[in-house]
Amino acid sequence: MDTSNLPVAVIGAGPVGLAAAVHLLERQETPLILEAGTSVGASMLSWGHVRLFTPWKYATDKSAAALLQATGWEHPSPEEHPTGADLVNQYLRPLASLPELRDHIHVNARVTAIARAGFDKMKTTGREQAPFILTVTTSDGDEVQYLAKAVIDASGTYTKPNPLGANGTPALGEAKAANQIFYGIPNILGHDRERYANKTVLVAGSGASAFNVLLDLTKLIQQAPETKVIWVIRRALTGRVFGGGEADELPERGSLGQRVRNLVEQGTFQIASEFKATRIQRVGNQLEVSSDTQTLALVDEIIVTTGFRPDVSLFSELHVSLDAAVESPVALASMIDPNLHSCGTVPPHGAEELKQPEPDFYIVGSKSYGRAPTFLLLTGYEQARSVAAAVAGDWEAARQVQLVLPETGVCCTTRDDSVGISCCGTASPVQQSPVIQLIDIAAPQSVAASCCGTPAAVVEPVLQGNTNSGSCCG
Ligand SMILES: Cc1cc2nc3c(=O)[nH]c(=O)nc-3n(C[C@H](O)[C@H](O)[C@H](O)COP(=O)(O)OP(=O)(O)OC[C@H]3O[C@@H](n4cnc5c(N)ncnc54)[C@H](O)[C@@H]3O)c2cc1C
Repeated sequence: MDTSNLPVAVIGAGPVGLAAAVHLLERQETPLILEAGTSVGASMLSWGHVRLFTPWKYATDKSAAALLQATGWEHPSPEEHPTGADLVNQYLRPLASLPELRDHIHVNARVTAIARAGFDKMKTTGREQAPFILTVTTSDGDEVQYLAKAVIDASGTYTKPNPLGANGTPALGEAKAANQIFYGIPNILGHDRERYANKTVLVAGSGASAFNVLLDLTKLIQQAPETKVIWVIRRALTGRVFGGGEADELPERGSLGQRVRNLVEQGTFQIASEFKATRIQRVGNQLEVSSDTQTLALVDEIIVTTGFRPDVSLFSELHVSLDAAVESPVALASMIDPNLHSCGTVPPHGAEELKQPEPDFYIVGSKSYGRAPTFLLLTGYEQARSVAAAVAGDWEAARQVQLVLPETGVCCTTRDDSVGISCCGTASPVQQSPVIQLIDIAAPQSVAASCCGTPAAVVEPVLQGNTNSGSCCG
């Protein structure tokens, strides 16, 4: 079948999906943008109250901004930091309303499967000539199918959060406790305030999302002083947990970790580090969270910010090769694997690294990073440009990838997270800090060490009914 007149399907109308659509239009390709939510930027609106750590100048795609500017749109102040909602309202919605784009965007259109028309995964001969066929569920539950000459999956990962369970599978009892668990970043100072005010809240995770939650809960404590926070992290509490600080080339990102570090040093939260949750049990109206060796104090609410993972079920009938650990396209994995790298610098990459055994199928945007948490919009915009060029057959332009990302200031290639030393010459003294060592209370031996020789700065232990640790706090 001649597929040349078919559109290029773009899954997801987030910032990267819409950028891909603009780049396709520049190359005289027709985009078919399928968005599961009721609006463009639906995932971003879920965390619309959160301020980005990148300023506006790093938040818009150049071609998309140029298209908007031609209609009199003014680029928001480059040095200011938008919230997620600002980015949708001031950039994505105006972009989606442009006559060039609006007729190509279908909202309430959830893609549930992608295949080659007439070819299941096992059939290889001739499949490359067959169009893609996408099954889409609409808001009233109807199913429709679209044909496409190529598919760009920009559906993000925000709708597939990781569980609390440290094995990567939900902790025992996690599903049953679902009504007291929030996955992501709740609007603690806005419409979710009552849910958390004067409650005991467990926060799990150690990335930027966890820091945002901890900072909001700290503000809530000032308004509702009975609010208590238990911060649970799976790794050891070393300086690296808090990021690159002043060495981070994105000052807002660096300051997030540093502000949390200050709060930790002031004893604002109870902390359980090296805590690997395996079970949640209901006790009355509260929840009791345990690892294999320890049980934490009862909590009213749990906020899980342990990252996100890609929905790989969409393309199970395509020939797609992902890294076994990171779940990103294989060629990208070694550049972004957080076990190997924590640098902000990801080598420039584009269609060449993103291409799949299935020709003309690409994963871009935050989904292209699989489970790695370090994706930046700038990366996605360059991916979108390069992939649109490749889809249009211009591999020379596709391979000319240029991208310089701001460094995190935490640049390390050791697998030993307990080292806590920055190995790029930006060493922070935190690793030497007695406070950090003393609040590292979760490991059985640390518990004993911290609570038997307690200096003033040690935070209150949060263990209760500690089964095997032999802790002297019990
Ligand atoms: C809290 C938070 C703060 C962040 N801050 C920054 C920052 O400061 N700077 C930065 O550069 N990056 C930041 N990021 C990372 C990243 O830039 C954002 O996650 C960004 O939204 C990724 O854009 P995207 O287009 O790849 O995916 P998304 O924005 O997640 O968009 C994907 C879209 O696909 C839709 N979708 C999902 N499944 C389907 C389906 N099956 N069918 C159809 N549509 C579907 C969703 O509804 C969504 O609209 C942040 C991320 C988070 C979570």
